[in-house]
Amino acid sequence: MKTLQSWIGGTWTGETAGQTLHSAIDGSGIYATHGEALDFNLALSYARQSGLKNLLAIDFQQRATILRALAKYLTEHKEELYAISSHTGATRGDSWIDIEGGAGTVFAYASIGTNEFPSGNVMHEGPALALGKQGVFSGTHILVPRQGVAVHINAFNFPVWGLLEKFAPSFLAGMPCIVKPATATSYLTEALVRQIDASGLLPAGSLQLIIGSTGNLLDLLEETDVVTFTGSAVTAAQLKVHPNIIRRSIPFNVEADSLNCAILGPDITTDNEEFDLFIKEVVREMTTKAGQKCTAIRRALVPAGQLDTVAEKIRARLDKLVIGDPRLDGVRMGPLASQAQQRDVLASIHQLAEGNQIICGGAVPENLQGENLQHGAFVAPTLIVCREPTQNQVVHDIEAFGPVTTLMPYRDIHEAVALAAKACGSLVATLVTRDAGIAAMVIPQMAAQHGRLLILNAQATPESTGHGSPLPQLKHGGPGRAGGGEELGGIRAVKHYLQRAAVQGSPTMLSAVTAEYVRGAAMLESDIHPFRRYFDDLQIGMSLLTHRRTVSEADIVNFGGLSGDYFYMHFDEIAARESPFGKRIAHGYFVLSAAAGLFVSPAPGPVLANYGLDTLRFIKPVGIGDTIQARLTCKRKIDRQKKDAKGVGQGVVAWDVEVTNQDNELVASYDILTLVAKK
Ligand code: NDP
Repeated sequence: MKTLQSWIGGTWTGETAGQTLHSAIDGSGIYATHGEALDFNLALSYARQSGLKNLLAIDFQQRATILRALAKYLTEHKEELYAISSHTGATRGDSWIDIEGGAGTVFAYASIGTNEFPSGNVMHEGPALALGKQGVFSGTHILVPRQGVAVHINAFNFPVWGLLEKFAPSFLAGMPCIVKPATATSYLTEALVRQIDASGLLPAGSLQLIIGSTGNLLDLLEETDVVTFTGSAVTAAQLKVHPNIIRRSIPFNVEADSLNCAILGPDITTDNEEFDLFIKEVVREMTTKAGQKCTAIRRALVPAGQLDTVAEKIRARLDKLVIGDPRLDGVRMGPLASQAQQRDVLASIHQLAEGNQIICGGAVPENLQGENLQHGAFVAPTLIVCREPTQNQVVHDIEAFGPVTTLMPYRDIHEAVALAAKACGSLVATLVTRDAGIAAMVIPQMAAQHGRLLILNAQATPESTGHGSPLPQLKHGGPGRAGGGEELGGIRAVKHYLQRAAVQGSPTMLSAVTAEYVRGAAMLESDIHPFRRYFDDLQIGMSLLTHRRTVSEADIVNFGGLSGDYFYMHFDEIAARESPFGKRIAHGYFVLSAAAGLFVSPAPGPVLANYGLDTLRFIKPVGIGDTIQARLTCKRKIDRQKKDAKGVGQGVVAWDVEVTNQDNELVASYDILTLVAKK
């Protein structure tokens, strides 16, 4: 039997066998944890000295590039993980969520890093605000790497995704990670980390793995560190009040078990397609990963008159489910991850069933597909009906972390919302409705108690990602019982691993700190037009003040003819006189176009493309006879390490544009986004 090893201080550690880990399929011993205790002083000093140093020697963009390469590597080597994953009880489909879902999340964070982060290691959370009338004192916010270590404690149900979904945003933020997977399935996480090591892609010290106990790790953490936890609410409650965590105000993010629900809307009848969608969603959530998903539907709420029909339809579908050895084709549901979980789930079913009716399941299933499964951790999919859910609090409290759902009736939609809230906070809720009015009334109320809300109807179904799937782009985590934490949600997850500071000072100082031009800061003006400079030579603050142009009536008439925009404000002398401006004014888009005419340098040069425009505001009207002038200033440079088809390197440059009138008043303000060639 292979002994698993921790990866601490850059070395695979652990020789003597400790606890035996069993296959969920047949209960046979397959791996052992190592018996040696780990030196967490060593782990932390390696993370702080090597990991941090190496991660901060590169920037957001470079770390995003590494994540992309890592995701690709893991995708290429996924079959090795699939082979091991089945021992956790996962079918091929279940493993897909864990393994390819994990790699997909890393890909997503690579793109988020490339598209939404700057070069360097300071993220400007602007815009800067003038704090006085003279414009010599401003304030803004920056986000910087915390210069600490992220400790991730994970649950047993997603040994691959669980590590990667927390690692990717931490890594992007520049935080070395020490990861402790749940022991029961740590063999799969170990295999993943061995692949990551073999890829050679990560800077030394950016990731370490603990097999077994965290020992005194939490005692040794410092103010700059963070802890994230996924698992039971009981363990979370115990760990988050660890004296060192409290004393040093170490952020502790919790994603705990919760009693998520799905509501069949009062508008849905058995004739509607949505009725079957509801049944399918409930059954899918009960059986995928044998119900061992923190997001699974634990409570299904239906109009009282539909209760028996829904129960019968769910039971009929579950009857057809093939349960057994997850390695076999045709098997749709495997065992739970361990015999300990099997015992826990059967005990929870027992508690849930008291005073309620078990419609199907409730025990170890018979008729398993496969050989030698008598010691496997199987539990039959179990549907319980609770007819008095307003009286019975147990069904809103006890989470059976397996293929178990309680079906309950409601009298009207208000009672449904009240029942949903009885779980005191959950990760996700689904509302199945065809009626946008119901959704508009119910969803904002439920949003206070549920981390994610899926509104399911026939129109959304072809592309629906389902009730149970957290997505990298959307927040994962819920209030109250669900732990009160947040993960994923695109850029938000990375920000959890960065430290925000407000910075005040003169615009020149803020520009220097944020690496972003702040209006009022010193500018660099020269005879060379900024559009004639290569990416490498451009500096933040390089600026051009253009010649002027007086706007004529002919301009307005020509622009109207060209664009087809004959809005009365530009063409109807009488109506325009009665308008708030009191006169005919130029089209805003004419002002933009005229400004471009003022600032472009027309000959071919390093500026390759203008690909957009941000934060556009037309601040004052421009009338016939007004004279406009533009100032173009290099605001921000991002090196995405990209090359064009001919191999020419290029970077993104954002330019601050101010268009003023003859009285030096700002008439239009925006950023233009360009691609600029490197030398
Ligand atoms: P636990 O809360 O016991 O364990 C979660 C993680 O915490 C594991 O890595 C575990 O390690 C670790 N841990 C436990 N005690 C400590 C400690 N004192 N110090 C440091 N780390 C610790 O949950 P389980 O995995 O045992 O699952 C139990 C229940 O949790 C499930 O039945 C389910 O209800 C819920 N759950 C919720 C999940 C969610 O995503 N919200 C996911 C999985 C489970 P070790 O394995 O070594 O004990």
